[in-house]
Amino acid sequence: MRRRHPAPVQLAMIVRTRFAPSPTGYLHLGGARTALFAWAYARHFGGTFILRIEDTDLERSTPEAVQAILDGMAWLGLAHDEGPFYQMQRMDRYREVIAQMLAAGTAYHCYASPDEVEAMRERQRAVGDKPRYDGTWRPEPGKTLPPVPADRQPVVRFRNPLDGEVSWVDLVKGAITIGNREMDDLVIARPDGTPTYNFCVAVDDWDMQITHVIRGDDHVNNTPRQINILNALGATLPEYGHLPMILGPDGEKLSKRHGAVSVMEYPAQGYLRDAMLNYLARLGWSHGDEEIFSMAQFIAWFDLDHLSKSPAQFNPEKLAWINNHYIKLADNVALAELAKPLMLEGGAQFEGAPPLPDAIALMKERAHTINELAAATLLFYRQPELDAALLIQHLTEAVRPALADFAARCTDVSWDKAAISAMIKEVLVQHQLKMPQLAMPLRLLLTGQLQTPAIDAVITLFGATTVQQRLARFLD
Ligand code: GLU
Repeated sequence: MRRRHPAPVQLAMIVRTRFAPSPTGYLHLGGARTALFAWAYARHFGGTFILRIEDTDLERSTPEAVQAILDGMAWLGLAHDEGPFYQMQRMDRYREVIAQMLAAGTAYHCYASPDEVEAMRERQRAVGDKPRYDGTWRPEPGKTLPPVPADRQPVVRFRNPLDGEVSWVDLVKGAITIGNREMDDLVIARPDGTPTYNFCVAVDDWDMQITHVIRGDDHVNNTPRQINILNALGATLPEYGHLPMILGPDGEKLSKRHGAVSVMEYPAQGYLRDAMLNYLARLGWSHGDEEIFSMAQFIAWFDLDHLSKSPAQFNPEKLAWINNHYIKLADNVALAELAKPLMLEGGAQFEGAPPLPDAIALMKERAHTINELAAATLLFYRQPELDAALLIQHLTEAVRPALADFAARCTDVSWDKAAISAMIKEVLVQHQLKMPQLAMPLRLLLTGQLQTPAIDAVITLFGATTVQQRLARFLD
C-alpha cells in the first residue's frame, strides 16, 4: 500500500524526528538502523533530527552506555541538530505537566498499595477477567472516593478513556486500532513523584514537537497509551512508524552468537562507515534493486513508503561483500593509514619496503575488511616463513636453474611490470617450463604463500634487491 505524503516543499520546514535510545548498553545494529532511518527522514525533508537519551531507568542506565551511544552515532556520522536531551534533566518539566494534569482532572491520585493492586488482579484472574486496575480511586461525577489512608504516598494515574478506541495509520504497518478497554489507568508518577516511562516519552515528543516517531516495533503497545496521554494534553499527534526488528541469519532474535551486535565492534573489525551505513539502509528498506548507494543518494531516495513490513535478516556475508566493494573504491592512501597500525602490530617493517599505498592497491581486491587487508598486505613487509614441506614440493631440482636465471636477469631488466612479465616468459621458454612451475616457487620464496596476486605485479612491487635477496637464500 502506498501512502501519500504532503509534497516535500510543504514538509521542508516541519519534519522533526528523534532517536531516543535508553542508555542501558551499547548501540546495537537495530538501534543504529532506527537512528539511520529517523535521521534520513529528517534529512530528506530538510527537517530536524533530535537525539534524546532516555535515562530514567536509574538501575540500568550508565554513563558508559551514554558514551557508547554517542560514539556509535559519531562513527556512523548521524549528526543530531538538537540535543542530546537527557530525560533525567527534565524532571521538573514532567512534574509540572503532572501537576497540570491533576488540576485538569486528566490524572488522579491513587492510594491503593501495591498489595491491594495485586489482590485486585488476583480477584480478576480468579473470575477469568484480564487483570487491570479497577478504578477505585478514579474520580467520577457523583462518586465518593474512599478515605485517604494516613501515611501513604499516592501514585498518579492517567485517566484513560473508558470507551472508544485508539487508532492510527502506522507508517509501516498500516491501520492499527486498540480498544480503550484494553488499557489500564497507567501509573504516570510513582509514590516518590518520579514520572514513568510512557509519560516521559509522550511529554518529550510533545515538547520537542516531533512530527514523525520512527522506532522499533517493540514499542507498538506503548503507542496507544502515549496517544491517549498526548490527546489529554491537547497535543498535536505525531505520525508513528514502527520498524520490524532485525533477526539473525537463522531467523532468531539478533544476539551475540550472530557475531558483533555493537556497532562499534565493526570499525574495530575493519568495516568502513560507508559500507555499514549502506548495509543498514537496506535492512528493511529498498529502492528498486539498488544495493550500493551513497548516503546522499539514500537521503534523496528515503521515504517511508518502501519499508518492509516483515523483519529484516542480518546477513554478515552481505555486509562483508559491501565492505569489500567500498574498500575497492576507497583511496589507497586512506586505506594505508587505516591498515598501518594493524600491520605494525603484526610485525611489519616499512623501511626499504615498497610504498604501502601501492601494496594496498594490489591487495585490496579480495579484502573484506581492513583487518583482512592489513593481514594480507603484511607479506610485503615481513620476512616470509617458509613451510619445509611446501619447499620440497615446489623447489624442485628441475626449477632451480630457472630460478637462478630469473634472479640474474633481475639485475638488468627495466623494472616495470610489462618488462618483468616479458622476462618471465623468456625464462620459461629457455628452461622449457610452464608458468605454474616457475610462478609457484617464486611465490613461495618471495612471500611464503602459494596464493598471491599476479606474480609479475608482486615482483614489480618488491623491487629487484628484495627479490634477489629472497631468492639467493635458496639458490647456491
Ligand atoms: N528508549 C526506547 C528504547 O531505547 C525508545 C523509545 C522511543 O523511541 O519511543 O527502546
